[in-house]
Amino acid sequence: MPVLSAFEVVGLWEQGQNRHPVDRALLLLGAFQPNESYEQLADWTVGQRDAAILKLRMATFGVLFNAYIDCPTCKERLEFSFDGRTFQLSNDFEDLAIEIDGWRFRLPTTRDLAQIANERDLDIGMQRLLDLCCLQDESQTKLEWSAAMVQLIEARMEEVDPRANIGLDLACEACGHTWQSAFDICGFFWEEIEVRAKRLLHEVHVLASAYGWSEREVLTLSDQRRNFYLEMVS
Ligand SMILES: [Zn+2]
Repeated sequence: MPVLSAFEVVGLWEQGQNRHPVDRALLLLGAFQPNESYEQLADWTVGQRDAAILKLRMATFGVLFNAYIDCPTCKERLEFSFDGRTFQLSNDFEDLAIEIDGWRFRLPTTRDLAQIANERDLDIGMQRLLDLCCLQDESQTKLEWSAAMVQLIEARMEEVDPRANIGLDLACEACGHTWQSAFDICGFFWEEIEVRAKRLLHEVHVLASAYGWSEREVLTLSDQRRNFYLEMVS
């Protein structure tokens, strides 16, 4: 199981900080599967990708996730944590396709998401996504999918590959409202990487100033040693 080292955390953050979230997800996947090119990884389905990134996150930062969300009804902030192993799913590739009313669709990949990333209108984006995933030759010409058909296809895709839609069951203690919220593993993990990378660079600054060590020397220390020296310095 790949684990991100301190050096890799800083490197990933540096490469991804100005990129679109879709590209960041590919960067994370590349860290999980370094033997495949980005071109190959872009063809992993979203479910396969998210299952892999969940594994990488748990191997690197542990199985516990601490998060918060504002209640959609009373706006009270809800802090909660969960064990990622609840959602731990296989990242094996399954050649899944769905069929509705004689139309066949493959499941969306990161390459598909990248193609619609700049589409601001959600409905148009979804139409384009379904065009890309439609396996019939007719998909060469633009098709109009009805709202009901879009809903059906989405629901069937979720059913066939639940890995692409990690849902959290939430309950607000203040007002009793219960709802389900989609958990974006890529965005969540990226925010953690950003926080960790900045902290590591601060630690480099402190230890390089005190001992004259290089950035690489500080980042390749184990967490235990780095923390020990940081205590000595402060
Ligand atoms: Zn509430």
